[in-house]
Amino acid sequence: MQTEAPPLTVVETCGAQIKLAEGRWLIDGISSWWTACHGYNHEHIVEAMQKQLDDMPHVMFGGLTHEPALQLAYRLSTILPGAGSPEALSHIFFSDSGSVAVEVALKMSVQFWRNKGAEKRNRFVAFQHAYHGDTTGAMSVCDPDEGMHALFKGAIPEQIIIELPQTADQLSAFENLLAGGQSEIAGVIIEPLVQGAGGMKFHAAETLGAIREICARSNTLFIADEIATGFGRTGTLFACEQADIVPDIMCIGKALTGGAISMAATAASDRVFNAFLSEDEKSAFMHGPTYMANPLAAAAANASIDLFEDGTALERVALIEAQLKEQLEPCREIAGVEDVRVKGAIGVIQMTEPRNINWLRQRFIEENVWIRPFGDIVYLMPPFIINTDELTALTGAVVTVMNEWSKKTG
Ligand SMILES: *Cc1c(COP(=O)(O)O)cnc(C)c1O
Repeated sequence: MQTEAPPLTVVETCGAQIKLAEGRWLIDGISSWWTACHGYNHEHIVEAMQKQLDDMPHVMFGGLTHEPALQLAYRLSTILPGAGSPEALSHIFFSDSGSVAVEVALKMSVQFWRNKGAEKRNRFVAFQHAYHGDTTGAMSVCDPDEGMHALFKGAIPEQIIIELPQTADQLSAFENLLAGGQSEIAGVIIEPLVQGAGGMKFHAAETLGAIREICARSNTLFIADEIATGFGRTGTLFACEQADIVPDIMCIGKALTGGAISMAATAASDRVFNAFLSEDEKSAFMHGPTYMANPLAAAAANASIDLFEDGTALERVALIEAQLKEQLEPCREIAGVEDVRVKGAIGVIQMTEPRNINWLRQRFIEENVWIRPFGDIVYLMPPFIINTDELTALTGAVVTVMNEWSKKTG
């Protein structure tokens, strides 16, 4: 409270823009933490929610069910990686936020092994720069040294955090780790292709494929956290598609409802599901968020999925990718910029060091754009409906402000 600039009051959103109380509109480069993939107040999503609000905003999901959730579960099972194959993620557990979806995935993995009599398989392998949420279980699989959670060392379960294996040597060390740790390792969790809040680091589809294959060979559960990458952000509907892999368990959230309301889900394969199916009640998966499968959120999610159906959203991502590549390229020449990288509708300026972050944030607001650098990066993740001029305004502001930043000392 003592060091942050006071927040700006927002009174309205529309398309790719945010209106401030003072009357100014900012062009949005963040999509409200990567949720508003179709832009704000999308007519189709708003209409579906208004109709659902009249029928039934909420009803409990224990002993009761409803059409919006049934429809959503069915539709997800037909679009998630591996749909139609024996490995398909056809079992969907709904929750209310991404962190909870990760908690569910972790609990599900531990209980999967317990139900099979492997009581000691309680630990997880995760990667440096990972971010999987802010609840305690999710925190334990985040990068332990990065700003957000370093403070809690010693107070949360200790997991096995390693450098994301990319070289042949690293991959073989990773395979040895899993082979040696089979008695205690329940699963491996990864953000496929793009590690988001831990620094927007990219890895190759081949790397992702190799990690998945090693997990399969070592009989260790592979959990894909697509909360940030899901729903088109990396250029395909899900990042796993680019490596042609199907995880055992997958988490989705953020853009699931098109950014209109909170909802998340944990999807599992038949193999995982079947480990819980038993005459013994104790084998069941026990987790029940009060607002699970909230009908209003499910209606928004169904409407958001409608908007992906004709393929234009992904075409727009490809256009955004090309425009980001071209227009952010000049940043490479700026002193203090180490790297410029683009994947799908994600553009990242990597600085050599975190410097003047509050100054950068303020300058972007003065330029009428909403861009919020963190750590040592400035990034753009605009809504897919952003038009060419609006995106040019965003990249133009990045080039202008980064040039000024470069000349600023201290
Ligand atoms: C945002 C995020 C989460 C946490 O989601 P919340 O809805 O904020 O709890 C988990 N994993 C990834 C990859 C995320 O980007």
